[in-house]
Amino acid sequence: MRTVLLGAPGSGKGTQGVVLSKKFNIPQISTGDLLRAAVKAGTELGKQAKTAMDAGALVSDDIVIGLIRERLSQEDAQNGYILDGFPRNIPQAEALDAMLDQLGQPLQGVVLLDVPFEELMQRLTGRRTCKDCGAIYNIHLSPPKSEDQCDRCGGELFQREDDNEETIGNRLKVYEEQTAPLIGFYQKQAKLHSIAGTGDIDHITDQVGAVFDEI
Ligand code: AMP
Repeated sequence: MRTVLLGAPGSGKGTQGVVLSKKFNIPQISTGDLLRAAVKAGTELGKQAKTAMDAGALVSDDIVIGLIRERLSQEDAQNGYILDGFPRNIPQAEALDAMLDQLGQPLQGVVLLDVPFEELMQRLTGRRTCKDCGAIYNIHLSPPKSEDQCDRCGGELFQREDDNEETIGNRLKVYEEQTAPLIGFYQKQAKLHSIAGTGDIDHITDQVGAVFDEI
């Protein structure tokens, strides 16, 4: 099942990706996670990516396309995957199509998590992530039982460096300008499924899961 979760920063791609990855037994592949790991490891690629990430801008297409090419070639991605945060603009989507066409394994479906713009800021400023298992909470909307600790595994919760108001504003602008055109791109390919990304998290998972079951 070769799928993409599309949506603005804060729309729930990461949250849904973690759950759906377990449910369908396919990896969630997040370019944001891959880039943050490279920054943390201090690799040359991480150093190149960090400036753009801190500013809420896009990292160069060459870097992220290279990361995806390498990740999709790994064993665990051979039965499918959920792409989260990639593609982020039309050139990346075209590069992905070309890559998958060569393999004779085109994308099967793209799910848009549709969230009103006003709600995104609150979601992003309140977001906290578990260092150990990646579970995502929101201190305003879905708080953990204890402020700094993961309910599931007891891991420490942290706030992402780019979840500050200034960077968030830029990331939302970049989404509108560069990523939102992908909605039309995938509509033309008849691959787009739009789902309201608000309300009960489990209900959203069920709806995305139903799309995945169909494709
Ligand atoms: P995310 O975790 O998806 O919100 O990504 C965090 C940051 O990583 C973004 O604000 C970008 O700076 C960078 N990034 C993640 N995915 C991509 C991508 N597909 N293309 C360019 N930059 C990306």
